[in-house]
Amino acid sequence: MKENSKIKEPAQWIEGLIKDFINQSPENTLKNAANEKAWAEPLVGFSRGDDPVYQDFKEHVGAFHWTPLEIFTKAFPDLKVAAEELTVISYILPQTERTKADNRKETAYPSERWARARIFGEEVNVKLRQQVVATLQGRGIKAVAPMISPFWEGKVSERFGFASTWSERHAAYASGLGTFGLCDGLITPKGKAMRCGSVVANIEVPPTQRPYKNHQAYCLFYSQGICKKCIKRCPAGALSERGHDKVKCRSYLHPVTQDYVKANYKFDGYGCGLCQTGVPCESKIPKEE
Ligand code: SF4
Ligand code: SF4
Repeated sequence: MKENSKIKEPAQWIEGLIKDFINQSPENTLKNAANEKAWAEPLVGFSRGDDPVYQDFKEHVGAFHWTPLEIFTKAFPDLKVAAEELTVISYILPQTERTKADNRKETAYPSERWARARIFGEEVNVKLRQQVVATLQGRGIKAVAPMISPFWEGKVSERFGFASTWSERHAAYASGLGTFGLCDGLITPKGKAMRCGSVVANIEVPPTQRPYKNHQAYCLFYSQGICKKCIKRCPAGALSERGHDKVKCRSYLHPVTQDYVKANYKFDGYGCGLCQTGVPCESKIPKEE
């Protein structure tokens, strides 16, 4: 049974609670001396629990990737719901202008703001997921954030290597928020320098239209064979016309950037994001140069 009959405009209500958290909560912090915000104004999108794209992800990523109904049923085994009674709420948290400007200047290691966003910004993202779930549950709407559920697991995909039972970027793609770039990042209307999150809820929300023809439409390399700027930005040789070598990327993040962050910024962290900054898709959907 759908439980949102008392909420008149569920899309606006949910979008408002996500934006209010990011714009107003003191939790949105990089935890630096100036206590700067970790994230700028979010984007929010919705997809139906029974959208066939979630079945496609199983074929594409691996059978282990959950449909919305699979993770919802794991979280609430006693509830009888149908896939069409669920909505995936997805959001994009864009990096701030200062964080992007700092990382643009880097050629080998993450800027301090970028590394802080990777660690303390992701803590904000966890709190936002929890806040969305708690607010929905407070209105009697059962909800689960797949990424922070105890069931979430890392997996290895035959085609793509490192993967997991739920991909925030795939949920964002399904929810009309962007398409994948050569470096695997999701290019959104606010660019690729971002992190994202999602919640699966027993609520009916009109889905966001996917304004693209395919899952790589916004990337200039995939759509027109040009650009490739992210390849040049990668200090680890992890990007090429064949795409993203996750093993090389991960080996650079740990231990190379990890050691650098500890030695230079004095906290336990890591990060890179050079392929997300100083590129045409950093802050927008890129156009042909
Ligand atoms: S930098 Fe260019 S090639 Fe790389 S993901 Fe962005 S648009 Fe695609
Ligand atoms: S995150 Fe860094 S190492 Fe990984 S692909 Fe992007 S630029 Fe290369």
